[in-house]
Amino acid sequence: MVCYNGRVPTSDDGGSNRDWSAVRFVLCDLDGVVWLSRHAIDGAPDAIARMRASGRRVLFVTNNSFSLLADQEQALAAIGVPAVGDVATSAQAAAFLVEPGETVLVCGGPGVYEAVSARGSEPVADGAADAVIVGFHRDFDYERLRIASAAVRSGARLLATNDDATYPTPEGLIPGGGAILAAVATASAATPTIAGKPYAPMAALVRDRCGPGFNRDTAVMVGDRWSTDGLFAEALGCPFALVRTGVTPPGVAPEGVAALDLADLAAVADVITGGRS
Ligand SMILES: [Mg+2]
Repeated sequence: MVCYNGRVPTSDDGGSNRDWSAVRFVLCDLDGVVWLSRHAIDGAPDAIARMRASGRRVLFVTNNSFSLLADQEQALAAIGVPAVGDVATSAQAAAFLVEPGETVLVCGGPGVYEAVSARGSEPVADGAADAVIVGFHRDFDYERLRIASAAVRSGARLLATNDDATYPTPEGLIPGGGAILAAVATASAATPTIAGKPYAPMAALVRDRCGPGFNRDTAVMVGDRWSTDGLFAEALGCPFALVRTGVTPPGVAPEGVAALDLADLAAVADVITGGRS
């Protein structure tokens, strides 16, 4: 029996007997699946178009909380992928954790302000709040740390868009939202609730966006990193399709079980639209 890091694959994890033609919802990570630094990965735009033409819904699921929604939609349109209404972000997932009318101190980027406002909550940059949402932003400094931790120590709930320690760029790894969150959590002596992949709030957001008909037989999560995308598939209760165009190079064993392990999104589209594995 094959065993990955102590995890034993079950029949539910395997893809060999699955009827992929039943898939109606294709959940796609962006970085390393659709694009790299917003440059299209070969064949990805065409693969998305083919899956949509076959009647499938393609939803992009990203832990990018910084960018405004329109910015992400326009960047996808620029590589030939219409995406209006089809992007789910960790900022939106975090906003799911606050109630309309609540005051939310934003320790993050414009995408968090946007998502909080869309939720009907009031985003603020300082002062007392019902919740603090921490996300990646480049102008984080000691003063932002002081303001965010003071709000938590005064009773605000500590929420985070994601806990990715680093973020890949063409210049190498840079500190991610998780690094900022660690500082705020330490200064606040609080345990955060994390919204993005692979956690439950993002799963709730995706199920909400897909609506009725979403289940383990009708959905697949496509990603390049098992520790976020693979675990997120587990949170959703659907199979994981690993592609080798991102952080998991060809020939490197994934940390967990993938129902499909294919070269790229084009190969995933071949399986789904052909209904075979
Ligand atoms: Mg990725």
